[in-house]
Amino acid sequence: MTSADAGMVRRARFLHELGIGPVWVQRYGHVQKSPVEGLSDVPSRITAAAPVEPLPSVVMVAAPVIDKQEKIASAWDDVSVPVPVPVRAGIAAASAPPVLALASDDGVAAIASMSWQELDIAVTNCTRCPLCKNRKQAVLGTGDQKAGWLFVGEGPGSVEDQKGEPFVGPAGKLLDSMLLALDLRRGENSYLSNAVKCRPVDADGKDRPPTAVESAACRPYLERQITLLKPAVIVALGKVAALSLLGGDPKIAVAALREHTHRYGSIPVVVTYHPAYLLRKPLDKAKSWRDLCLAAQAYASEGKLAI
Ligand code: SF4
Repeated sequence: MTSADAGMVRRARFLHELGIGPVWVQRYGHVQKSPVEGLSDVPSRITAAAPVEPLPSVVMVAAPVIDKQEKIASAWDDVSVPVPVPVRAGIAAASAPPVLALASDDGVAAIASMSWQELDIAVTNCTRCPLCKNRKQAVLGTGDQKAGWLFVGEGPGSVEDQKGEPFVGPAGKLLDSMLLALDLRRGENSYLSNAVKCRPVDADGKDRPPTAVESAACRPYLERQITLLKPAVIVALGKVAALSLLGGDPKIAVAALREHTHRYGSIPVVVTYHPAYLLRKPLDKAKSWRDLCLAAQAYASEGKLAI
């Protein structure tokens, strides 16, 4: 078995673990039979050596509607059903600049020139928003500081607050499987962070999404992380992350932001569901895999062949 085939087998296993079966993308006209036993009906896959065709610019093309999506996504153990993936999605016109107002401009200029180490110290001691009051520790992020892939969630939950690392627990495990399906690993060409670095809690002490004001207060840290990372692609996990990166109407649904490639500056941004949502709504895992394939296309178009 070649290393490419080994990678394919590995991806098939993690897609199976994701519960969406093998989702193969036939983008470049290369059809290759799966070496995975029992998956002989897999139609095609991407080959690493395949030429990358340029994506059209400034044209937004919606991906085709998937018929019987729920049936496909619910087939947790059915690895024989291929899910159609958008062959090509256009690059959306640059998103409107964020419109959220910062809670305070104090320190923004200083944050914009910080090193990774200085960011870590600043976030640890930050009091820019009320979330500082209930945190056990701030969670800046984790991963390869030269990563091509940046994944942004909404904020630390209780476990993350205790451990000081983003995306741990069941949602983190699912995200790890999503990374592996893309041939990524936590800490290897991927960086994980959140829109806010401190845990938001409700009146009962339970996790809640951050408010727009909290996201805006924390945004300078995320901006600095992006500047330091210079990722080839950003994946926004959920609405809070999408709004923090792209701005826009707070009432917009994640579904309306999916299936297009947005821009943060010159960096492509793909919006998909948060892993915690996917745990509650496993039927949407196949949609999320489509989004990751779109992100992989954007990554490849940046000159870094992803898959
Ligand atoms: S969430 Fe961000 S802005 Fe608010 S206290 Fe924590 S680090 Fe500071």
